[in-house]
Amino acid sequence: MSRSLSRRDLLAAGAAVGLTGITPVGRAQTSPNRGMPVAVSSGNGLRATAKAMELLRAKADGLDAAIAGVNIVEEDPNDMSVGYGGLPNERGVVELDSCVMHGPSYKAGAVAALQNIKTPSRVAKVVMDRTDHILLVGAGALEFARMHGFEEANLLTDAARKAWVKWKESLSKEDDYEEPPSGGAQDAPRPTGTITCLTLNEKFELSGVTTTSGLAYKIPGRVGDSPIIGAGLYVDNEVGAAGSTGRGEAVILSSGSRIVVENMRHGMTPEEACLDVLRRICRYTVDPKLLRAPERPNFEVNFYAVNKKGEFGGARIYKGGTFAVHDGTTNAMRPLAYLYERP
Ligand code: ASP
Repeated sequence: MSRSLSRRDLLAAGAAVGLTGITPVGRAQTSPNRGMPVAVSSGNGLRATAKAMELLRAKADGLDAAIAGVNIVEEDPNDMSVGYGGLPNERGVVELDSCVMHGPSYKAGAVAALQNIKTPSRVAKVVMDRTDHILLVGAGALEFARMHGFEEANLLTDAARKAWVKWKESLSKEDDYEEPPSGGAQDAPRPTGTITCLTLNEKFELSGVTTTSGLAYKIPGRVGDSPIIGAGLYVDNEVGAAGSTGRGEAVILSSGSRIVVENMRHGMTPEEACLDVLRRICRYTVDPKLLRAPERPNFEVNFYAVNKKGEFGGARIYKGGTFAVHDGTTNAMRPLAYLYERP
């Protein structure tokens, strides 16, 4: 299949950029590193990129390397946005979402609203390897994990339980709970967070994983973008890989990671590809309760991407974030490009 750009593609890409009239103020973050493996992750992923690179150098499969990277964060009780220690749903139950995608075999697996298993990314990989399906949810996903010998654990750490109790006690002055002694949490932003890890190996094969405990204190059963192929993750072995963190509903609505990859197919750098989808999200957000001002959402979305050539990039709506990259030589945090200064 030809990967060259048609005139129509070029015009469409140019129009998409021109229409918004927004000039990205973030610095370019792409950096070609031909022939070297690359691992790209979210701001909480520096240990993940280090681990993934160790395995890529040892010629491990790219997806196994990415999963081993995020497992460190899934199993870390101190990261309250992923796996064990993640913040629970509104009933105090930790529900985890994850998906994986393997470029060379064009296969994917996912689990959503999975309870009691510290490493949902590994269960997602087994869904990919051992079923004819892509996504298992809730009780069925847990039963499947048990069937494959995954150990069950209470995922609610004391710190996460205390944060949940504070949130619950702060919800209303009309209920029978006293206000928390340390003061209410009504105005505090709902904590969010997720980890994504994308890899490119020496054979130029792409893979990725995204894993999360999702939106803190969510309605039980709420599923965000993280286990949805095309939203929280997408890998096309001919083009590139992309993953996301942040408001899952906006990423699902925009088919975010899939469009980032399509943008790269049509010639954008990874960073431009991420910024383009963020612009669309800003334009299409019209619900007043989600806006600070026209085209200025009151939430954050981050995209991370790597292409087949080993160029990488990441971007978010508002200035301020970083992402982790091991470029084959150095493992470091890099600033995310962005659309707007924070108001
Ligand atoms: N994307 C995740 C979700 O919506 C949350 C996050 O990354 O903050 O479930």
